[in-house]
Amino acid sequence: MITNAGGAVGPIIRLMTCSSCGSATLGSRPGVFAALSRAAAKSAAARLRSLGVLREKSDWPARAAACERCPLRVISRGLSYCGSPFLENVRRDPVMHGFGCPTIAKAKDPREHCPLNARHQPADASGGGCNCKWCAV
Ligand code: SF4
Ligand SMILES: [Zn+2]
Repeated sequence: MITNAGGAVGPIIRLMTCSSCGSATLGSRPGVFAALSRAAAKSAAARLRSLGVLREKSDWPARAAACERCPLRVISRGLSYCGSPFLENVRRDPVMHGFGCPTIAKAKDPREHCPLNARHQPADASGGGCNCKWCAV
């Protein structure tokens, strides 16, 4: 816990946004609304992908399998999630809590990446490459 200049006490939340997943670290109300909008858009895209309208990542089974071995993976109502489902915790650090997406839908989205690298440290996509667990598969 930290105390900010105004005296309020709150958890330490890293300012990390996801370049691929719609979720983000949420420290403000605008952040919450923006993340909710992105989550709705992602849900719609996943639906279109399931109907064959949008392209799936060809190696999504390997990505989804990596999620099944991941300590951040949570089972909720019979589905695997990257961390607890997004709406259960909208203030989250993806590295610590996951993004809250269903893992299979996330794995199928070609734009998505894992927030962690193979050593379970924050993934780095700077410099043009990506060292996330999925890109290392
Ligand atoms: S996306 Fe990455 S952090 Fe999330 S469950 Fe899958 S392997 Fe784990
Ligand atoms: Zn990646």
